[in-house]
Amino acid sequence: MVDPVPSVSEQVDALMPALITDLAALIGIPSVAFPDFPAEPVHRMADAVVDLLQRSGAPARLLDIPGGYPAVWAEIPAPAGAPTVLLYAHYDVQPAPPEQGWDTEPFVASTGEDGRIYGRGAADDKSGLVVHAGTLRALGSEPPVGLKILIEGEEETDSHLDGFVRDNPEMFSCDAIVVADMGNLEVGRPALTTALRGVVVCTVTVRTLDFPVHSGEFGGAAPDALLALIRMLAGLHDDAGDTVVPGLTGFDWSGGDLDEGVYRRTAGMLPDAQLVGTGSLASRLWSRPSATVIGMDVPSVAHGSNVLIPEARAKISLRIAPGADPEAEMAALVRYLESAVPWGARLTVSDTGVGWPFSADMNAPAVRAAEAGMAEAFGRPTETIGCGGSIPLVNLLQRAAPEAGVILWGAEDMAASRIHASNESVDPREIRDLIVAQVLTLRRLADENY
Ligand SMILES: [Zn+2]
Repeated sequence: MVDPVPSVSEQVDALMPALITDLAALIGIPSVAFPDFPAEPVHRMADAVVDLLQRSGAPARLLDIPGGYPAVWAEIPAPAGAPTVLLYAHYDVQPAPPEQGWDTEPFVASTGEDGRIYGRGAADDKSGLVVHAGTLRALGSEPPVGLKILIEGEEETDSHLDGFVRDNPEMFSCDAIVVADMGNLEVGRPALTTALRGVVVCTVTVRTLDFPVHSGEFGGAAPDALLALIRMLAGLHDDAGDTVVPGLTGFDWSGGDLDEGVYRRTAGMLPDAQLVGTGSLASRLWSRPSATVIGMDVPSVAHGSNVLIPEARAKISLRIAPGADPEAEMAALVRYLESAVPWGARLTVSDTGVGWPFSADMNAPAVRAAEAGMAEAFGRPTETIGCGGSIPLVNLLQRAAPEAGVILWGAEDMAASRIHASNESVDPREIRDLIVAQVLTLRRLADENY
């Protein structure tokens, strides 16, 4: 019997030049779906994705998403007895304003001396589009599994797809879900993302006085709302920088860890800035809670005058650990705020919102197949990593297909891709190896002896 790995690998090598040409054309379409940006390029991009998938052998069409930009949808029925796999990616991108400091034109693909392809969306997530297109081309006209392909147009902005999935769960029933919108820690180091943190947000308002009063005449005895708020917020973390709100849950990450140097560089940390928190970087970022103050309504420096401030507001964003219950974490945060409010200040907590965390079932056949397929494609063991961010759609798809294994991976390597930032790029080797991994995984799912 011929070893199947070289054949898939050679096949994908032959597909790469055309796929990279496709990727370059897709990068050239500024498909920013934010409300203030022009709609025409977003629609042009949706059409380009339909065309890309059709040229790759899938009967793709636009899928109308009420209130939002269309998604792209294709369905290839499963051969008798074979499972159905849903492939997801998104075609919208982050904006790329000049003040980010780009070295190249963001919406013109260019290849660097390092062999990487630069441009907004090169990694996030137009790489995912060509990974799926390459997978279809490599599988040929009769894929061994049924396929449902879902390409979203509003991942980076307020998504209307979430509601659509909630309203039409039967359309998304499947045996495995593949989300190609993640990345390895470094190029060539295969990683499955197995956990996503959730998030809870709230607005905290503190009031101490009916109106602002002279800080010379009254300061020293009457309580200032801004100082009260600052004291409460300061207690969210201990001196080391760990989030210490009583009742929050978390655990130590047992899979792969990040390289500290790479992390410092990608975070843009100043040379003397210290890391905050304790424990492995992976635990701090993926499996423990972290609270951030993301906005405050206070007088500006320019308008600061000598008064005691009667009311101040802050918006708190709390990332929560995989497995945590967002309502319980929110309750713990509110309990902390109530216990910490000083000087009899009046506290109001409003505008609360929660996003569920996610944990992949590592024993699901699809996840095991992906772990093996990825290791085979990259030629080294697959590590399990987390993601500090939250992807609400993953939970909704899992709810629509409760039995499906969820595979989260992608070509957006964390060390160099700079997604959402200036000089975003992708390494074509990651695209290639990901396609090989997807093909091997789908074959394995169709035939566990493959
Ligand atoms: Zn993305």
